[in-house]
Amino acid sequence: MRIGIYPGSFDPVTYGHLDIILRSAKMFDRLIIAVLKNNAKNPVFTVEERVELLKKVTKGIDHVTVESFDGLLADFAKQRNANTIVRGLRAVTDFEYELQIAQLNHKMNSDVDTIFLTTSLEYSYLSSSVVREIASYHGDISHFVPAEIIDAVQAKF
Ligand code: ADP
Repeated sequence: MRIGIYPGSFDPVTYGHLDIILRSAKMFDRLIIAVLKNNAKNPVFTVEERVELLKKVTKGIDHVTVESFDGLLADFAKQRNANTIVRGLRAVTDFEYELQIAQLNHKMNSDVDTIFLTTSLEYSYLSSSVVREIASYHGDISHFVPAEIIDAVQAKF
């Protein structure tokens, strides 16, 4: 059984994340979306809220599950018998950091490898922070996050 993990902050989930989820879900028998609990980034949405929003937008995809995790991703992957970590690459600026983390994770758990999906062109500008910024000014976020979570995202601001 091929199990993949897509880790991230998802603060909140965007169409860019959903695109990576839909594309990578085809590669695995099971895809676990892993929401990072201990986040130095000081998230706006609690981990429970971020998990709920992800569950809402992935409802129809039956082999995709959403969990939160704490601690090292390499350990979490081992616990879940996952051999592949999925990350998205938007621009060159993502690369240096991602390379380091991927090498580190492989060093800590040699059974695990990281694959990178390049962003779809229409979402290359999109990030959770852009969504938070626009929502904080009560701007229209309908192009950036799935319809079923718009109200919940706006309610935060
Ligand atoms: P993290 O704090 O771990 O980077 P994010 O929620 O910001 O968490 O991102 C999770 C993953 O999704 C990362 O691999 C990131 O590169 C990817 N990602 C974020 N936005 C996009 C996008 N618009 N297109 C493709 N990948 C994206």
